[in-house]
Amino acid sequence: MGLEQYKGDMEMCCRCSACKFIPMQRVSGLQYANVCPSISKYNFHSYSGGGRLNIGAAMLKEGFNYTDRLLDIVYNCQMCGACGVSCNYAMDMEVLEPINEFRIKCVEDGKTHPALDKVIAGLRKHGSTVPVTGKRGDWASGLNLKDATKEKVDVLYHVGCLTSYDKNLQKLAKATAKILQKAGVDFGIAGDAETCSGGRAYQMGYKEDFLTQAKKNMAMIKKAGVKTVVTACADGYQAFKVLYDKFDLKGGLEVLHISEYIDKLMRDGRLNRGRKSTSRSPTMTPAVSAGWVSRGYTGKGKRFRGTGLSSTRRRSTGEARTASMSRLGMFSRAFPV
Ligand code: SF4
Ligand code: SF4
Repeated sequence: MGLEQYKGDMEMCCRCSACKFIPMQRVSGLQYANVCPSISKYNFHSYSGGGRLNIGAAMLKEGFNYTDRLLDIVYNCQMCGACGVSCNYAMDMEVLEPINEFRIKCVEDGKTHPALDKVIAGLRKHGSTVPVTGKRGDWASGLNLKDATKEKVDVLYHVGCLTSYDKNLQKLAKATAKILQKAGVDFGIAGDAETCSGGRAYQMGYKEDFLTQAKKNMAMIKKAGVKTVVTACADGYQAFKVLYDKFDLKGGLEVLHISEYIDKLMRDGRLNRGRKSTSRSPTMTPAVSAGWVSRGYTGKGKRFRGTGLSSTRRRSTGEARTASMSRLGMFSRAFPV
């Protein structure tokens, strides 16, 4: 693991700049062509996915000489993975993973960003990446939900940081719990014992903090004997499903996004839609790849379609494709093949 693992990928970059734009096969107009928020703002190659790979490759060769400008480039990436999707239309290489590893290297070398340090300080203190108001499980008061840390349940509903503490989003958590109750699901929440999945910390480069969170979560899940985790938190979904697996922490845990789980309940006849709705509900798209989703529940033989890549493709190292592929689910919906 580490940046060295991606030396070949970074050196493979041919500086074609495709990672700055929506793939040519999909773009529908000049006004929609830009895909990378970083290069769109800074308009200098170093701020693109390819630029970051070029810098990473050079630093592996010449040594890590940190400057303010270099750190500005490292931390002004949104980690959205769009560059990797565009690049992979032509190139068989990782883009987001080395960018993430570069950031991890910066954190390991003590070159952190003050704003992110603040978020991580909150995570270490409160187990949350958002400001904490009240207790984490307060949103569930009056719903008579099972405490998964004390009672045996089939399903753990992982609510996530923002939904736990944001007054408006708490309505979503309540509505979700009511739907699960209506379907007769034997589920519980961890309430005040719930802690952040750690996925956001990983994207910020704080790998050790991610691992701390992941181990805490998996210890609680194993102790509770839970076999399935359901979440509406896109970041938590990617962490539980992809990152925990990447670090051999997931075991046989089934991880489903709430939209997948509700779809399953409807197909099993445990829920019905009631009156027909013609509106389309906005959802936070889970950032999980076609490949990974196809191993979980996707409905009757349905698979999310990728962008033309094999969803089961593996790196020669045998490591499962994770973060950059993880965005394919998002893009495959935006640009269906
Ligand atoms: S990262 Fe991929 S798309 Fe971007 S410049 Fe390099 S080879 Fe081209
Ligand atoms: S991850 Fe997103 S912001 Fe970062 S270089 Fe790639 S496209 Fe740009």
